[in-house]
Amino acid sequence: MDQDGLDFMAIGAHADDVELGCAGTLLKLAALGRRGVVVDLTDASMGTRGTPAVRLREAAAAARKLGVTRVNLGLPDGRLADGWEAQEKLIRAIREHRPRVLITHHWSEEHPDHEAAARIVKAASYKSGLAKLDCPGKPFRPQRIFHFIGGEMQTPSFCVDITAHWRGKLATIHCYKSQFHNPAAKKYSGRTDISSAAFLESIEARHRVWGARIKRKYAEAFVSVELPEVLDITALGGARFA
Ligand SMILES: [Zn+2]
Repeated sequence: MDQDGLDFMAIGAHADDVELGCAGTLLKLAALGRRGVVVDLTDASMGTRGTPAVRLREAAAAARKLGVTRVNLGLPDGRLADGWEAQEKLIRAIREHRPRVLITHHWSEEHPDHEAAARIVKAASYKSGLAKLDCPGKPFRPQRIFHFIGGEMQTPSFCVDITAHWRGKLATIHCYKSQFHNPAAKKYSGRTDISSAAFLESIEARHRVWGARIKRKYAEAFVSVELPEVLDITALGGARFA
């Protein structure tokens, strides 16, 4: 294990993606004493509601709740593309923080930026380990990439029980006052899918479905291209409803 590095890096195309995808798992990791960083790839310049400055403040508030540091790579929102510009920025961040595990979007998603993010993460993770790469920093390759499942129904490789952190997850989502349904935030106008009450209900339904799969109330689901190795088969979750 690299003693200098962090345990995990969670990477989203936009600030709030990580909260929607895996905030419960990040809160659980924080409770276990794991150290991590959240990386937002884009600058929120295309958001229908709120401004980039508002979104940065909201992201900082959510990071405090998650117990992580947070960086924004400033890539163009709505035009995120897998190429050297994006890969190089992420490789610099990976080499600086040296995370053992990367967590990011699934590669099949409605939003093209999310799909691009998954490809950028895969390429940057591999290239970061190349000794002769023309990029600052000491070579380092993370051990694992886990993809959180968004709106499309993928088959998970594993689920994480987040029942104890469900309210905490919602609190991180509600840090984005400009983005999600909030009757008190009338100053943000512009109809978007995610600003409807139905969106938050669908988020809860999705987490209840994943929870039911492992006989827990709420869970987050992940896909791993590599088959995850189980070190102790007697240490898995209980698989009985509490
Ligand atoms: Zn997004």
